[in-house]
Order: sequence, then C-alpha cells, then structure tokens
Amino acid sequence: MTSVPRICILGGGFGGLYTALRLNQLVWANDQKPEITLIDRQTNFVFTPLLYELVTGEMQSWEIAPPFAELLKGTDIRFIQGSVDYIDKAQKSVTLEDSTELEYDRLVLALGCETPSESVPGVRDHAIPFRSLQDAYKLDEKLRVLEASTAEKIRIAIVGAGYSGVELACKLADRLKSRGRIRLIQSRDTILPNAPKFNRDAALKALEQRGIWVDLETTVSEITADSIGLIYKDQTDIIPVEIVMWTVGNQVSPAINHCGLALNAQGKITTAETLQVTDNPDIYALGDAAAILTVDGNSIPTTAQSALQQSDFVAWNIWSSLTDRPQLAFSYTNLGEMMTLGDDNAVLSGMGIQFDGPLAYVARRLVYLYRLPTLDHQLKVGLNWLTQPLVKLLS
Ligand SMILES: Cc1cc2nc3c(=O)[nH]c(=O)nc-3n(C[C@H](O)[C@H](O)[C@H](O)COP(=O)(O)OP(=O)(O)OC[C@H]3O[C@@H](n4cnc5c(N)ncnc54)[C@H](O)[C@@H]3O)c2cc1C
Repeated sequence: MTSVPRICILGGGFGGLYTALRLNQLVWANDQKPEITLIDRQTNFVFTPLLYELVTGEMQSWEIAPPFAELLKGTDIRFIQGSVDYIDKAQKSVTLEDSTELEYDRLVLALGCETPSESVPGVRDHAIPFRSLQDAYKLDEKLRVLEASTAEKIRIAIVGAGYSGVELACKLADRLKSRGRIRLIQSRDTILPNAPKFNRDAALKALEQRGIWVDLETTVSEITADSIGLIYKDQTDIIPVEIVMWTVGNQVSPAINHCGLALNAQGKITTAETLQVTDNPDIYALGDAAAILTVDGNSIPTTAQSALQQSDFVAWNIWSSLTDRPQLAFSYTNLGEMMTLGDDNAVLSGMGIQFDGPLAYVARRLVYLYRLPTLDHQLKVGLNWLTQPLVKLLS
C-alpha cells in the first residue's frame, strides 16, 4: 500500500454515496487519512423513493437529484463522472470507459441494478423504465405532448404491480384525473406480494378510488409504438395504449459480470457478513447488486433502507481494516416500509405502527427529508417546503 490509502467507490447511489460521506466523517489520524474517490456515470445522485413526485410536479428535480459536486463540496471526497468498464482484481485497478485507470487499496462495489429490457419484444424500443431522472423526464415529455393534444383519453399501461408500479399508477392517475385510463399489469395473483397486508389493502383502496384497472395473472406478449399484447388464461388481447411503463426486474450492472467475482444464481456479488466480497477481503459490496443475507439466512430486501444500513457497516469496516481494528458483522434491522399513493396520500407501516392517509403523506415526507444526503441539502429542501405555500399564495 502507498503511504495514503486509496479508497475507490464505484456507484454514487444509496450504497456508494452514503459510504463515501460516512468515511469522510470518521476520525482518521493525519497519516492515515485516505484518498476517497467516488465514481458514477451520472452527474447527479437520485433519491429514488421521491422520483414519483416529479410526475405530479410536487417536487423539483434539484430537490431529489442534487449534483454530486454540490453534495461533496466541503468534503475531501473526489468525484469522477465516468462509466466503470473493467475491474482488475490482480492489479487492484479500475478502468473507466474513457480509459482512465484508477488504483485502489480498498474497493467498494455499489453499482446497483438496471431494469432488464430484453424479456419481451418491444420493451427496449417502446416502453419506459422508471429508475432514473432521465426516465422521469421522458415520461413527463410524453405526458406533456399528450396533454396538449386533442385526445380525449390518455391510455397508460404500467407493467408490474410491485412498489414502483403501484406508486407510479397513483401519481399518474392524480396528474391526469378524468383524462387518464391507467392499467396495472401483474403476472401474479396479487399486487405487492411482499408488502404487509395493511399496505396492500391501502394500495388496493387507492387504486380503486382512482379507477385504475388491475390485470392480475396477466403477462405481456409484445409492446409496439401504440399497443400492448396481454395474455390472460392463454388468450391474447391487443390493447391500444399511448404509454407503456416497464417496472419489472432487477439486473446487476453489466460491469460486474466480467470481473471474476463470486456471484449467486441471480448474478449478485456474494459477501461475507462483514460485507467483504467472497475471497476478496479488499473489496466490499453493498446495495442492490450484493447478495447479502440476514443472520437466519434470508435475503435482505433490495431497498434504499438496506443500502443505507449497509453503507454504515462498509465505511466502518474499511476504517477498521485500515486502522488494525476488528470488523463488524452486518446486521439488518427492518424499519418498515412507506409508499406514496397519490398526491395527498401515503401508507406507512413498521416498528409497531401503521397508518395511511394525509398524515402518512406528511410523515413519509419528513422521514425522507431526514434521509436526504448532507445537512446542507436537507436544510435547502426543508426550507423550500416551508416557504413554497407562502410563495404560491403571493404569486
Ligand atoms: C422508482 C424507485 C422507487 C424506489 N423507492 C424506494 C423506497 O421507497 N424505499 C426504498 O427503501 N427503496 C426504494 N427503491 C429502491 C432503491 O432505490 C434501491 O434499493 C437503492 O437505490 C439501491 O442502492 P444502490 O446503491 O445499490 O444502487 P443505486 O442507488 O441504484 O446506485 C447505483 C449507482 O451506480 C451508478 N452506476 C451503475 N452502473 C455504473 C457504471 N457502469 N459506471 C458508473 N456508475 C454506474 C448509477 O448511476 C447509480 O448512481 C426505489 C427504487 C426505484 C427505482
């Protein structure tokens, strides 16, 4: 190792950004202070749980997707915008798409997952995923064109009735009101199969109140520019639609596939309980791309909540490994879950409490305000929320 340890963090989402910020907060002796580099292909962090608020215009993109440069101002973390191409474990180096090469002493893999687009013909060309700022902009652009048109109805099919599909459906219905015709398509016999019953019931009520059609036990045969093929009980129906949103599946970032790390059957990186990658003690993995188990052997959900909890352990364990201290085994605490169900409604359950409606909407907002990265950003967003009603009143 060179005199200054080099920590390279790949991916600036919930796992990577929060690990970097935590590492920067830890106390290092002067001669041990590491060089921390965060790499992401985007210029902005995205707080995905609030991405739906862009559909209804409840929030602005600067609030949910602040630039890394702004978040890291005043820290010792170096940010590089670039796409990770290759990891050479033997040389301990990372190569970016533009051939930049970085050497590391400790590597953090936090590249997350992508939405697969090859499973059904037409998905790549005609459906919109809902994962990034660009996806939200693309949806908004399409909606604006349709809203300005003379079309009586705007027909939208949302594939997948998991959290993203349900939350998106409610927001779209509230934006389009009586002009929207929204269908939620689910291959299983229920929406939100993994959610607590209270949340599922609240979601069913919200969907029904908004007149959202739910197709259960239905799969998709094909998507074209203006239609979607739905298969129900071996019968295929072709339904005309203006927009198809594709919210199903999680596929590990392709950069991980070629670096010779131990992967599980889903292609996720396997780790020890310290979050060190199997057989690679200098590499740590966390978030959606890592296969991390609870103490009783169950998989940890692929959520921001899990990635945030893991980031504390990864930062601490890297600090420990560089300062000759014992590393900690990761333990997951399920804090419950929240969902947005429209522009004035949400549901929240966990830690022994559960409620829905406008109060849950406010509680969810406050929890997420607290979870936004950096105090400076929390203050900017919080102040905006406080002053916005006043500005609207005066304008
Ligand atoms: C719409 C939506 C809503 C969600 N809502 C919730 C919620 O309410 N609650 C909750 O707990 N979870 C929620 N999630 C899940 C949550 O976003 C993920 O579990 C979490 O982001 C995982 O963190 P991560 O660090 O593994 O990946 P991410 O946060 O996805 O970060 C991965 C980062 O890696 C970067 N990257 C990927 N490949 C490369 C490459 N080759 N080179 C450089 N950079 C790369 C990406 O740009 C990204 O910034 C939601 C997800 C979505 C899509």
